[in-house]
Amino acid sequence: MKDFLQLQDKHIVIMGVANDRSIAWSVAQSLHAAGAKLIFTYRQERSAKKLNKLLEKNEMDAAVIQCDVNDDESITSAFAEIKEKFTTVHGLVHSVAHAHKEDLNGDFIDTSRDGYAFAQDTSAYSLVAVAKAVRPLMAEGGSIVTMSYLGADRVLDGYNVMGVAKAALEASVRYLANDLGPDNIRINAISAGPIRTLAAKGVPSFNEILSKVEEKAPLRRNVSAEEVGDMTTGLMGALSRGVTGEVIYVDAGFNIIGIG
Ligand code: NAD
Repeated sequence: MKDFLQLQDKHIVIMGVANDRSIAWSVAQSLHAAGAKLIFTYRQERSAKKLNKLLEKNEMDAAVIQCDVNDDESITSAFAEIKEKFTTVHGLVHSVAHAHKEDLNGDFIDTSRDGYAFAQDTSAYSLVAVAKAVRPLMAEGGSIVTMSYLGADRVLDGYNVMGVAKAALEASVRYLANDLGPDNIRINAISAGPIRTLAAKGVPSFNEILSKVEEKAPLRRNVSAEEVGDMTTGLMGALSRGVTGEVIYVDAGFNIIGIG
C-alpha cells in the first residue's frame, strides 16, 4: 500500500476508460493500489459494459456514472450525482480526447471549421467544463490531472488538429491553475509518450512514432500506461503538494532530444 501518498479512501473521479488498454484504466489500477475510492465516468453504454466487467474481474468496488463532455447538461447531472453519492471529491483524472478521423489524415491546413471546433471542444474545453463542475465538490482542496502529448508544441505528421487541441489544453492547465490555486486545488498535465490504445489507432503515423521513440529516447524504449498511471498517482498525492500548472513528461525523455 502506497500510504505515503495519503490517498487512502480519497474520492477520485476517473474520466476516459474505454477498455483495458485505456491510459485511464492504468491510472485507476495505480490509484486503487494506493487505497483511493474511485468514481468512473463513461460516455457510451459499450464503455460502461466493459468498465463493469473490468471492475468485476479486478474485484474493484466503484461508482460508474454517465458523462458526455460535449454536453453541458450531461456534465451537470454527472457531478450532481457524484455530489449526492460522495459529497466531497479529492481528485479528478481527465483522460479524454477526440477528433474527427478525416482531420488526422492529410494536411493540417485542410482542417474543417467544424473539425477544428469539435477537437477543441472535446479535448480542451472539456477540461475547463469539468474543472468548473468539480470545484464546488473539492471543498477540502484537490488535484486534477489531464493527459497531453508532445504534438502540443512539436509538429508530428498525422497529429494535426489534435496537436492544436493539446496546445490549448496545456494553456488551459496554466490558467486553471491560477484560478483554482486559492482554493488549494492543483491541476497539472502529463505529456505521455505514445501508447497503443484505441485513441492512438486514429493517428496514422503511430507505429513510426513508436519506433522513433524506442531508437532516440534517452531511455531507449517506449513508456507503458502503468508508468503514466503511477505518475498520475504521484500528482494526486501529498508528495506533489507544491506542484501546479505544470506539464510533466512521462515519455522516456524523448522530448529533450533535438536532432538525434
Ligand atoms: P482511449 O481511447 O482509451 O481513451 C479516450 C477516452 O476519451 C475514451 O474513453 C472515450 O470514451 C473518451 N471520450 C471521447 N469523447 C468523449 C466525450 N465526448 N465524453 C466523454 N468521454 C469521451 O485512449 P487513450 O490513449 O487512453 O487516451 C486518453 C488520453 O490520453 C487522451 O487525452 C489522449 O489524447 C491522451 N494521450 C494518449 C497517448 C497515446 O499514445 N495513447 C499519448 C499522449 C496522450
